[in-house]
Amino acid sequence: MHSHTRRGFLSQTLGAGFLGASLMEQAFFRATLARAQAPGAPTDLFDIRKVADSVYAALARPAAFVNCNAAIFENANDLLVVDTHSKPSAAAALVAQIRRNLSTKPVRYVVESHFHWDHTQGAHAYREHAPNAQIISSTATRRLISEFGAARLQASLEGLPASIDKYEQQMSAAKSPEEKAYFGKLIAETRAYMKEMRGYQPEMPDMTFDEDLVLHDKAHELHMAFRGRGHTAGDVVVFCPEAKVVATGDLLHSWFPFIADGYPREWPRTLQTVADFDFAHVIGGHGDVQDSKERLGQFAGYIEELTERVETGKRSGQTLEQIQASITPASLKSLAGGYGEFVGDQIVHSDGQQTLAKPADVIADAVRGNIADIYGALDRT
Ligand SMILES: [Zn+2]
Repeated sequence: MHSHTRRGFLSQTLGAGFLGASLMEQAFFRATLARAQAPGAPTDLFDIRKVADSVYAALARPAAFVNCNAAIFENANDLLVVDTHSKPSAAAALVAQIRRNLSTKPVRYVVESHFHWDHTQGAHAYREHAPNAQIISSTATRRLISEFGAARLQASLEGLPASIDKYEQQMSAAKSPEEKAYFGKLIAETRAYMKEMRGYQPEMPDMTFDEDLVLHDKAHELHMAFRGRGHTAGDVVVFCPEAKVVATGDLLHSWFPFIADGYPREWPRTLQTVADFDFAHVIGGHGDVQDSKERLGQFAGYIEELTERVETGKRSGQTLEQIQASITPASLKSLAGGYGEFVGDQIVHSDGQQTLAKPADVIADAVRGNIADIYGALDRT
């Protein structure tokens, strides 16, 4: 996941669920409620969209514990799925949705783009629902799951009872039935997540590679590639040359980048290397499919510009707060020309409710969070 204040996102990654969540997270979750309240709204967790021949994007619908998107590559006799969401029941729901609407071919390969909880914690479902599937990741990602997976989940679960108490207070202070329902749903989803994840042990990948692994299927080739550090130390992409599609996890997606575990000085260069693949469509870990290479350049440009400015500020002895005050969204050239609006709209456009945060506030909040994360990541080796 993605873009948020450090406090907001890390609280979800590491600790406290929705408590202290950023405006973006709140906006995204409120969209869930709006959809859930629409008459006849389907209960599927994903919207599956055909991207090219034999390639599909499963776009995650909003949830209190965010699910990542999945990319689905249909091979001659089986399927390769990229990423496994935040919990086994979400991955199981995707497998059921695929069987119902897309293909009865078995999932044979599961690729984990990187180690984060919202991309890996569902992996266990494949042991049950596709027992012959091989789970594949970079060598670094396997190490990061074994190092951080269990501890981060544990820390996040320990913070949730306090979150629920807070939501209950907010629910009883609610000023409208909508607001009450919103907190009610948040409480229900948080309780369900706690119940499901209690005692969960991270599933370890079966197969790892350092730089390249090519699957030579009868239907097409699938190139799994690690091209350098970026969002984490181990991000891989999956590229299909015949379909001209690349699945990028959180190395590139349609929200603001999430940088707390990242390498902001190396990330833009890694993305430029990924751009050497001849693709026309990007299935990122969050937000909509991108149908050109344009967003890659904008996303990389934003990280590069922000990193340069944070570095300059930090070198000159400015505090984090001073840097956050001096780098406004309007002062960032990389957000001009429509990119800032695009990302802001990605987060809030799906909800027609009046109560939502405005895109401008969401953007400002995300930039402040990114600045804090870069400030902390600059000296990471
Ligand atoms: Zn991530």
